Amino acid sequence: MRVVRSMITAVACLVAAAAAQAAGKPSDAEIAALVARHASARIAQRQDMHQNPELSNRETRTGALVAAHLESLGIEVQAGVAHTGVVGILRGGRPGPTIAVRADMDGLPVTEQTDYPFKSTVRSTYLDKDVGVMHACGHDVHTAALLGTASMLAEIRDRLPGTVMFIFQPAEEGVPAGERGGARMMVEDGIFEMMKPDAVIAFHTNGAPPDDAGDNERLGIVAYSPGPAFAAATRWEATVKGRQAHGSTPHLGVDPIVAASGIVMALQTIRSRVLPPLSDNVITVAIFRSGERHNIIPESATLAGTIRTFDDETLATIEARIREIFDGHTKAAHATYELDFHTGHPMTVNDAELTARLVPTLERLLGRDRVRLAPPITGSEDFSYFSQLVPGFYFRLGVVPEGKVSGGHHTSTFYAADESVPIAMRLMTSLVVDFLSAGKP
Ligand SMILES: [Zn+2]
Ligand SMILES: [Zn+2]
Repeated sequence: MRVVRSMITAVACLVAAAAAQAAGKPSDAEIAALVARHASARIAQRQDMHQNPELSNRETRTGALVAAHLESLGIEVQAGVAHTGVVGILRGGRPGPTIAVRADMDGLPVTEQTDYPFKSTVRSTYLDKDVGVMHACGHDVHTAALLGTASMLAEIRDRLPGTVMFIFQPAEEGVPAGERGGARMMVEDGIFEMMKPDAVIAFHTNGAPPDDAGDNERLGIVAYSPGPAFAAATRWEATVKGRQAHGSTPHLGVDPIVAASGIVMALQTIRSRVLPPLSDNVITVAIFRSGERHNIIPESATLAGTIRTFDDETLATIEARIREIFDGHTKAAHATYELDFHTGHPMTVNDAELTARLVPTLERLLGRDRVRLAPPITGSEDFSYFSQLVPGFYFRLGVVPEGKVSGGHHTSTFYAADESVPIAMRLMTSLVVDFLSAGKP
């Protein structure tokens, strides 16, 4: 009798322990089991989105399928945010902080040349030209992985101590001329006024081509930069005005090509002779247009380019020096100029505390040697509009399997393995669970 009673007590204890566990924080093994169950459906969805890419601010099909998926999970959905964006709110069964997770949904005007069986043959119009459309930056992987994360978190919602805000944004690659869009528009239209999260996180596929800088693009390797992660981008445009003349009588005109050529060369000295040698920045001239005919000295030359910086002071110095170079060179050439700077995305900065809090989760899941520090990159990300307002963490996930070569982001042979979807689902779900379980920051 005593034996039976102690057995009953032991069983009761086990049952109680199991119940406590079921009510508490999901273990890594439970999350891995959820990934295994949800992976194939989300990979199928990734392939479907890959085959049906949409350009920036035109993500109507993608936005609709995202909204339908979130609704099917019982998540509160607001669709049509910043045109085609979707915001989902999942309230956990217990009180706690709020974390936002973000994916971008747009493709690019690139004609796909991969060997995927689900390769895109979609065509569209971009800048009045007929173009192929491709998920050449991996945003299909981001969207599918975040839908998977939503499926998994919805299943364990009763055990979540806090709230998860899902942000599916349009137009990360850039807003068509004359339109609003992207993360900036979502913020301007008040998504963080509706609910202000305590943190926002996102990842980007890393499908870089092979290079000497290492193998961070290999499937399942995470790279992150504490502090500045992506540069601020500033677009500039200029016109150098001269005076037209016959090509045989240059002394009767003012040649804008020669003046502008001098300017282009002088711009190179800002980086090499004005700024400190270890300053991180880029000054690029990407457009130089002038002339109609071989024997006419043209009236004007158009220049345009981009500046990438990691601090406001450097940007101010670069803008001032560019203006001085245009001033001096045009004066010497008896030409005139117009110069405009257009502020683009701000710098993306990983919040130091949030980074320190989340990196151990990634290291635990992947192993420390697969979670690597990386220098900031001079690309820009409109995730910065979110992370300017709340602490943000953004990492890059390698998506190129052994034996495969990706042509790199924005190329026709960009390659991201299907397996990157379940890997990202596991990482994002665990980051959310660990963040919420640790309580208010
Ligand atoms: Zn891109
Ligand atoms: Zn991208």
